Amino acid sequence: MTTHDISAQRAHQTLWDLSAPGRSGIRLPESDVPKQPMPDASLLREDLRLPEVSELDVVRHYTRLAQKNFSVDTNFYPLGSCTMKYNPKINDMVASQPGFSGIHPLQPEETVQGALELMYRLQRDLQAITGMPAGSLAPLAGAHGELAGVLMIKAYHEANGEPDRKVMLIPDSAHGTNPASASMGGFEVVTLPSDSNGSLDLAAVEAAANDRLAGLMITIPNTLGLFNPNIARICEIVHGAGGLVYGDGANMNALLGRARPYDLGFDVVHLNLHKTTSTPHGGGGPGAGPVCVGERLAPYLPSPVVEMVEDAERARYRFATPANSIGTMSAGHGNFGVLVRSYTYLRALGADGLRQASGDAVLNANYLRRKLEHVYRVAVDRTCMHEVVFTGRPQREKGVKALDISKRMIDYGVHPPTMYFPLIVEEALMVEPTETESKETLDAFIEVMIAIAREVEESPELLHEAPHVTPVGRLDEARAARQPDLRWQAP
Ligand SMILES: *Cc1c(COP(=O)(O)O)cnc(C)c1O
Repeated sequence: MTTHDISAQRAHQTLWDLSAPGRSGIRLPESDVPKQPMPDASLLREDLRLPEVSELDVVRHYTRLAQKNFSVDTNFYPLGSCTMKYNPKINDMVASQPGFSGIHPLQPEETVQGALELMYRLQRDLQAITGMPAGSLAPLAGAHGELAGVLMIKAYHEANGEPDRKVMLIPDSAHGTNPASASMGGFEVVTLPSDSNGSLDLAAVEAAANDRLAGLMITIPNTLGLFNPNIARICEIVHGAGGLVYGDGANMNALLGRARPYDLGFDVVHLNLHKTTSTPHGGGGPGAGPVCVGERLAPYLPSPVVEMVEDAERARYRFATPANSIGTMSAGHGNFGVLVRSYTYLRALGADGLRQASGDAVLNANYLRRKLEHVYRVAVDRTCMHEVVFTGRPQREKGVKALDISKRMIDYGVHPPTMYFPLIVEEALMVEPTETESKETLDAFIEVMIAIAREVEESPELLHEAPHVTPVGRLDEARAARQPDLRWQAP
């Protein structure tokens, strides 16, 4: 056996391989609790076989497992649209203060004034970022914020005696959650095409503006990473026809401190705090997708919102339910720990820091675009915002797919970009470097991408079989997501 074989074998070891009869990680003192009768035998199981291991075995096992996980704390993670920026540790330190982590959602309000004040201030800061006069922190994810937004639009039209406004316009570049949320909210989705500049086609919006129009859901910059110069005009057309404009603000990384959705004409926008404000994400949560709204939708906001009451001595805070609220979004009032992290991030950066973050995010994406456009074609050849979409079409002609390129990146220690999205770009590779990466990291990434492009020419089989360095190679990803096998059983 070579040393490589030995270490590879260790990498696959389960706790069961380390088990030895009678070995134990703990020694409990003699119990001084009187023996109690056991429950009915039918409630007991006899076959519980567990590995018998020492504490050190357990520590090494779980530490090794943790090291198999790819994370932004270990490597570059340019997953487009997902904004995998670095999550500063101060956010976690603040969220784990006992005054924040040890309170209960149903505690009397007068005992949690500090927590309510934090929520109030975060709500107010998000309103400042979006320019919107009102907001609610209740939704638990981006898609959840979208659902809140479309339900508000529906309630608004119904209250105005126009329940037949059923059509929601959505560009063909939209994130898949947009049409899903609109249809869950009871709307008919009409997909609008993009023009040759990669932006929503203005003429298509004009043609769709009629008295069945409920609204438009639009992402800005869109998922091609492009700003739409016609956005103000588009909002005017939708408003002119009696509709409302929904802004998908999941990624505010290009707009922070530079443009406010309210000023552009939006009526409602959600923000993914787990993207833009650097709270950890991946693996399904917890997240936060607050919604901010203009005057027309403020009475419909999901409950609760946090209000400040000026009292003679000091400000007090309380939960409130807007007059025509669409209701609650969950059993509680949002993922509080995420809200604390987000507020810490906003305070740590301040207004100037946020403006610099968006500037650096856009600069980094354009740096990658210019350095790689000769090798991987850019989907739409325009200055981009916080992300850039390449197309692996030239590489596919040589028999190598975007999937192969992505898998090969893993061998070089880089997380693959978002692939095959947006759907309107063939062989899409959507790269979002974020502002938290240094020029050295970006240069290293550029070298990796150029090296892979050379391999496409010289040794394409390397790509077809990649990744080569991971414990497992290519998985059936659809099956892994639909039928996850999460239960460990003794062999
Ligand atoms: C991530 C994302 C969403 C969905 O957010 P979730 O928190 O995953 O539900 C919606 N729209 C865009 C543009 C996104 O990038």
